[in-house]
Amino acid sequence: VSQGGRPRTTLAVHTATGCRACEHGVLDLDQEVTALGRFADPVFWPYVLGTPWEALPREVDVTFFAGAVRTETDREAARRLRDRSRILVAVGACAAFGGLPGLTNLAASGGSAEPAAGEDAAGDDGAAAPALAPATLSLAQVVAVDYFVPGCPPTPALLWTAALALLCRGESAARLSFAAGRLPERIAEAIAAGVLPPRGSTFAGERAVCGSCSRVKEEKRFEVCKRPFQAYQETGRCLLEQGLVCQGVATQEGCGGLCTGAGAPCRGCFGKAPAVFDPGAKMVAAIGSTFDSAKADEIAELVDGFPDLAGTFYRYTAPSQCALLAPPPGAAGGGA
Ligand code: SF4
Ligand code: SF4
Ligand code: SF4
Repeated sequence: VSQGGRPRTTLAVHTATGCRACEHGVLDLDQEVTALGRFADPVFWPYVLGTPWEALPREVDVTFFAGAVRTETDREAARRLRDRSRILVAVGACAAFGGLPGLTNLAASGGSAEPAAGEDAAGDDGAAAPALAPATLSLAQVVAVDYFVPGCPPTPALLWTAALALLCRGESAARLSFAAGRLPERIAEAIAAGVLPPRGSTFAGERAVCGSCSRVKEEKRFEVCKRPFQAYQETGRCLLEQGLVCQGVATQEGCGGLCTGAGAPCRGCFGKAPAVFDPGAKMVAAIGSTFDSAKADEIAELVDGFPDLAGTFYRYTAPSQCALLAPPPGAAGGGA
């Protein structure tokens, strides 16, 4: 397909196990969707176009894959789309790190209302749910991934920048959004030159969210863990110092501090910052070093006040970035 003599890039979009907000993000590229339509030709998009799998072309230029790999159907979709795609992009925290569905890997085995791995479960209408895989995986733990666009969902600015870089090459230099200013130099330079960024690149920043947060750190002190509804104060002071579990110190920046700017703690949806080995361990170190007590019983009481430590610190990253957990069954390694 071409317009004005320039071949348009073919695009596939698919969500495995996820809420589809990432997919809506592609649909909702605001005014940009018209521009996207000039450069990209969606040839496989089951959710929007109703494209059946039999109609998946033998070769697709770019595939945006959202959602985690939770079922055998997801795994098959990942393999088929990898086989047919020149460029495979993990869009959103679920695809990039395992995301919220990855919390299932923290659940103790047994006692679950879900069917066992490999078994189908019939719903009220008698329709069979897809068989579960032994564990939830990120896309890169199943197949090779070329690019990552993190976030839950990714910010429109970053999603659009990735679309410019991968779909509209050569047309994009004059249209770089402010998001490109947050990207590593090698990616921004590639976009400006109209060439593909290095394979494996993540469309996000290189520092931690704290590095771009404008909140003021006054003193290193953590007295008691509070939930956001207990502590919201628009004082401009660091939220962690106000007792909120803000994960900005462990999280990769790129969103521009969306949550912290609005007074809500960072929950880590961009995954770990490049310099961080394990996001949960980093948070334990960051918070532990600010405990306002040296007494064991007081510290124990403080720790007991944290709700669901593992679920909080690995909310988006359990399958691929938790060094304390053994690699999930079926994981091939890799990740953002
Ligand atoms: S990353 Fe977040 S927004 Fe995207 S599919 Fe997963 S849960 Fe939904
Ligand atoms: S911990 Fe959170 S609120 Fe504090 S500086 Fe870092 S990102 Fe900002
Ligand atoms: S502040 Fe944290 S949780 Fe909020 S969008 Fe940015 S990375 Fe995600």
